[in-house]
Amino acid sequence: QHAIPSADLLAINLAITQKNVQAEALEYIDYQAYQAQGGYQKLQKCHNGRVDRESLFKCMEESGLRGLGGAGFPVARKWRIVAAEIGPRLLAVNLDEGEPGTFKDRYYLERDPHRFLEGMLIAAWAVDIAEVYIYLRDEYHACRHMLEAELVKLQENPPVAGMPSIHLRRGAGAYICGEESAMIASIEGKRGLPRLRPPYVAQVGLFNRPTLVHNFETLYWVPDLLKKGGDWFSKEGRNGRSGLRSFSVSGRVNQPGVHLAPAGISVAELIEEYCGGMPDGHILYAYLPGGASGGILPASLSHLPLDFDTLQGYGCFIGSAAIIVLSQHDSAITAARNMMAFFKHESCGQCTPCRAGTAKALDLISQDVWDIPLLQDLSELMRDASICGLGQAAPNPIDCVIKYFPQELNLAQEKP
Ligand code: SF4
Repeated sequence: QHAIPSADLLAINLAITQKNVQAEALEYIDYQAYQAQGGYQKLQKCHNGRVDRESLFKCMEESGLRGLGGAGFPVARKWRIVAAEIGPRLLAVNLDEGEPGTFKDRYYLERDPHRFLEGMLIAAWAVDIAEVYIYLRDEYHACRHMLEAELVKLQENPPVAGMPSIHLRRGAGAYICGEESAMIASIEGKRGLPRLRPPYVAQVGLFNRPTLVHNFETLYWVPDLLKKGGDWFSKEGRNGRSGLRSFSVSGRVNQPGVHLAPAGISVAELIEEYCGGMPDGHILYAYLPGGASGGILPASLSHLPLDFDTLQGYGCFIGSAAIIVLSQHDSAITAARNMMAFFKHESCGQCTPCRAGTAKALDLISQDVWDIPLLQDLSELMRDASICGLGQAAPNPIDCVIKYFPQELNLAQEKP
């Protein structure tokens, strides 16, 4: 029933493909071109009273849009929570995009930066934001130069009066600074260390002010939602889920890249319908549904809806929708070792369960024979006692290998 993507989705994916060609020449839709296509008119309608805040909140609610950075918090609810706090309020945009396998934010930013900037300014208007901070992954050099130039144009010739000040901050290459409280510390000029909550950043965030924190892509969709209506977004979806997701697909597929597809699509459907299938000589063996943190699932679970809630029941999560596809030529154990080495390197070192736990776990899974009871104890400890999501999610790949790939462990144990 869902074998063929809707006309809207086909058109968007076709546009993505065409822009992909343009991107080779580093072309993007600049301020003038964006305005020529009717850009910033939705923001202007907000500012001149033709859209009221409540109807904007209702549109977001109707769309069902949730944060697309990984946590999946409903956008409208977040806006209402921050708007209820006493001002001045700040907005921090997470453009750090450090999850391995995730490149959707860069992809959209490189092509259509003002769609994001308009969404950001609409959110700022909705929540009455005094100042905006964009935290950009420093490895995105070309994006930074482009964004600096476009922000100058925007501020010299603002589309509306009374725009908040916009600050562009460079990240420093730490994965942990994608975690919202660490990002806030980093923007403030401090070492990027996560902190326990409460207080939540919506109450005590950047410079101790109530702060709306959003992933880039969440804001990118706001102008379209306002233009096409919340149901444009919510009517998409499959397997009982609603909305759209931008999947960053890499690994053993014929067409890796960013694919905009219905939320709830399964990895089997995604590969066949959007990625041109798998290369000759490869069959699906396993997949990572959420970058390094989201665990590893076997091909026998390739029918599961890739959504925020379903995967949790399988000890995995979709996060920022970075799908890494493995074939029979790959190994889940090798992937798990690779990810644990990454977590060990990126642990901020603040808490022992994660700092010592990632090192110990890497040591244990580098052995030919895994000490499974010890690994399970370690995994439980890291999950329960780590301060932030890095330490809590780091054992996911290990747990998945034990649960879903016992044949690899048996093979490893049989080695002389
Ligand atoms: Fe730092 Fe890891 Fe603790 Fe998070 S869990 S605060 S990354 S040491």
